[in-house]
Amino acid sequence: MTMKIGGADLARRYGIPLFGSQYCGDIKQKKVHDLEKEKMSCNIDEMIAAGRLHYFHPDKIKQALKEGYVPCKYCIGNNRRKSLLK
Ligand SMILES: [Zn+2]
Repeated sequence: MTMKIGGADLARRYGIPLFGSQYCGDIKQKKVHDLEKEKMSCNIDEMIAAGRLHYFHPDKIKQALKEGYVPCKYCIGNNRRKSLLK
């Protein structure tokens, strides 16, 4: 397991409360984030602080879509979003 520290990207979160999950949802905004490509604009910390965190089982984008979550444009990106929402 490699962890990136510093740099432009944020490291994937292996601690509490995400435990290395790749995807997490924002309950209020109904948005799914890809934590591997997390951006500052995703405001994951704010989401966690507000208790809006949702986990997907299995930890897959398909599961998130099935639950009605919309992919985040910052970390998932508009191109990937379009193909996922097709
Ligand atoms: Zn995001």
